[in-house]
Amino acid sequence: MNYDFDLFVIGAGSGGVRASRIAASHGARVAVAEEYRVGGTCVIRGCVPKKLLVYGSHFAEDLADARRFGWDTNGATFDWPTLRDNVAAEVDRLEGLYGQTLGNNKVEIFLQRATVAAPNLVRLADGREISAKHILIATGAWPAVPAIPGAEYGITSNEVFHLEKLPKRAVIAGAGYIANEFAGIFHELGVEVTLVTRGDKMLRSYDQEIVEKLVGISRGKGIDVRFDFKCPAVRKQADGSLLIESGNGDDVETDLLLFAIGRVPKTKDLGLEAVGVALDGDGAVIVDAHNATNVPSIHAVGDVTNRVQLTPVAIREGHAFADRVFGNNPRTIDYSAIPTAVFSNPPIAGVGLTEEEARATLSDVKVYKSDFRAMKNVLAGRNERALYKMIVDGATDKVIGLHLIGPDSAEILQAAAIAVKAGLTKQDFDDTVALHPSMAEELVLMK
Ligand code: NDP
Repeated sequence: MNYDFDLFVIGAGSGGVRASRIAASHGARVAVAEEYRVGGTCVIRGCVPKKLLVYGSHFAEDLADARRFGWDTNGATFDWPTLRDNVAAEVDRLEGLYGQTLGNNKVEIFLQRATVAAPNLVRLADGREISAKHILIATGAWPAVPAIPGAEYGITSNEVFHLEKLPKRAVIAGAGYIANEFAGIFHELGVEVTLVTRGDKMLRSYDQEIVEKLVGISRGKGIDVRFDFKCPAVRKQADGSLLIESGNGDDVETDLLLFAIGRVPKTKDLGLEAVGVALDGDGAVIVDAHNATNVPSIHAVGDVTNRVQLTPVAIREGHAFADRVFGNNPRTIDYSAIPTAVFSNPPIAGVGLTEEEARATLSDVKVYKSDFRAMKNVLAGRNERALYKMIVDGATDKVIGLHLIGPDSAEILQAAAIAVKAGLTKQDFDDTVALHPSMAEELVLMK
């Protein structure tokens, strides 16, 4: 059978681009279709611009703290369009680089929507049909919007990077990654932030003692954090402001509503059901450990499979898929001990089991903690403490979890995660000489 391509990838995000490039390097003839912008969520409207906004917004505190270090920062002002447009320009630059990488690897790019027409056939929006020996679904996920009256008045992370001006007040609904990250960004930029969540917990996958610390610090900074806020409806008022109903009489008036209530796999109208690809109840493509679907020529990687919605995981899946199908090197991804971070202010980072998870599964759990004030915060007069937790399996002395909140915790955790992944013990940490003065030294000084 003569196909137009060996591989047709739908979606040029992190997973799709990696799979395309690696498959091409193995000699495959590869095409990729992208309906929006090359780079996908992470580069275009996710991790990258978000992190730049985190940096940009943190100057508010840095400038305030700088005075205690002898700097006169009076007169410093902030201009949202400057930050927004510089971030957008950086995103443009990265998009160009992604396109260049694909081009250098002789991957043909179709900048339009593609759907699956048959197990070996893709249909482009302009009507062309292209055959491929393999099809990879890498369409990612899409922000969820609740089915409530007035939901259309809210925005999602898709729109938040392009605001014409910053609102005076913002309500952020949901209390996961995006909500906590934008609560920090908006607050630093001078927006009055109310963070509302439907239940009594936020950031469920994180160690809850660390999360409680974040809630306390967020409230101390002036972010209004509210739990049990059901948000049954949103109403537009005569003056253009929004009234966010709470369901408990605790309604909030605001100028901007940001929904951050999770992301759903982007499989709608992709033609998958018609060709028999099995989807789960959330619309995610069901795959095995090798990213294969139940249709032999169709595969899927990344957020669209709804396993671990993280860029580095999608990249690994895309790489492993291409190595298996085109490089004769079958291998699976190890999903254990994946380090993660929430770029809230301060950031949270964690790897391995939380205290709650460890206690639920092991009989002998030791927990070590360090609750300290970073020396920079001490001199700055900033009454904000960090908390590091180490979870140890008492039977083996292995460190099975590390959970941090404090400045630069994501940077610190990435290195420490290697030790957890490698199965090192509390004694190994203790045997390592402290690097002084640093915050990370707390990890080897825990009593
Ligand atoms: P999350 O899954 O992190 O959090 C979703 C939040 O929304 C939870 O608080 C959840 O509450 C709440 N929620 C879910 N459904 C509803 C609903 N119908 N009504 C009201 N509240 C609801 O989602 P995000 O949107 O913040 O992020 C999506 C994904 O993107 C993350 O899971 C993560 O994988 C990825 N991401 C990663 C980042 C990083 O690595 N730093 C940054 C940003 C995103 P409850 O707990 O009660 O279910």
